[in-house]
Amino acid sequence: MARSDLSATIYDCLDDVETIFGDTVTALEDDGQLVHVDFAHSKSREFDLVFGADGLHSKVRSLVFGLEADFEHHVGLVVCALELEGYRPRNELVAVTQTTIGVQTMRLSLHHDATLVLFTFRDDRPIPLHDVEARQELLRTRLRGIGGEAPNILEHLPRAKSFYMDRASQIRMPTWSRGRVALLGDAAAAPSLLAGQGSALAMVGAYVLAAQLRRTQGNHQQAFAAYQRQLQPMIQDKQDAALQLDIAFAPKDRKQLYMRNATIRLMGLPFVSKLVMARSLRDPIELPSW
Ligand SMILES: Cc1cc2nc3c(=O)[nH]c(=O)nc-3n(C[C@H](O)[C@H](O)[C@H](O)COP(=O)(O)OP(=O)(O)OC[C@H]3O[C@@H](n4cnc5c(N)ncnc54)[C@H](O)[C@@H]3O)c2cc1C
Repeated sequence: MARSDLSATIYDCLDDVETIFGDTVTALEDDGQLVHVDFAHSKSREFDLVFGADGLHSKVRSLVFGLEADFEHHVGLVVCALELEGYRPRNELVAVTQTTIGVQTMRLSLHHDATLVLFTFRDDRPIPLHDVEARQELLRTRLRGIGGEAPNILEHLPRAKSFYMDRASQIRMPTWSRGRVALLGDAAAAPSLLAGQGSALAMVGAYVLAAQLRRTQGNHQQAFAAYQRQLQPMIQDKQDAALQLDIAFAPKDRKQLYMRNATIRLMGLPFVSKLVMARSLRDPIELPSW
């Protein structure tokens, strides 16, 4: 099992928590006292509470709250992330970007001679999520003719160590819990790639929810309500703010491209970046004590 450093660190803390890999929930029934859960492979089980932390395309959400389409707000971009080994050119500690109208290529150097490439492009069409080859073909078609490093990167595509491609979307739900089931992270409130804070928000959400369950001594109704009350307004503000940032990734026209480039140059001035970024990155949130 390949794990990143952060997920390995978190996983290693789960001393007495049972984990099951390679399985998925297929049905959930909350009878008010317990939640009955069916799995694709394991035996059915019953739980006091169920938390869906299964990301943008949450199965728990679709089983308990309804269709993904009712909550997904596509931001008009497709994002593709791939990891290459030994890719050249390589620049340490620098994000190298090429932005043209509707498309951005970004290259970042990781440890151990790995390179992360991010392509972002404007597209509204559905993505064949379960067909890697179809997605790679779509990427090639969409990037045809953009020049720069893209053709070189695309040649490495068949040897990519990992490949992700999906619509960039936000999840906006009126309520993050129903009965004994609650959602966390992207499943409840994905802010999208544009916000650049989804992982942090997911972890803050998990912390706040756990702290509220502890504070209310397991009264899940009170805990779920307090969790949502504390975080939802802040996350909604972040989602709204993120929608303004799409021009940084894939400007729609020449004017937006010019504005984007001028802003990036201005951000090179320390007092400007501090003024702009400090305001958007500092969150008015007080974590409950443990
Ligand atoms: C290209 C890209 C770059 C990003 N960059 C940043 C960044 O720089 N900083 C940042 O903070 N955020 C970033 N984000 C957003 C961030 O990745 C997400 O917001 C974050 O991962 C959400 O965490 P999560 O735990 O809620 O969901 P996920 O990380 O999506 O985890 C969900 C987990 O559930 C599992 N799962 C899904 N369905 C099932 C199922 N049916 N059964 C069992 N398991 C299931 C998945 O395998 C996965 O392990 C980026 C996102 C993208 C796409």
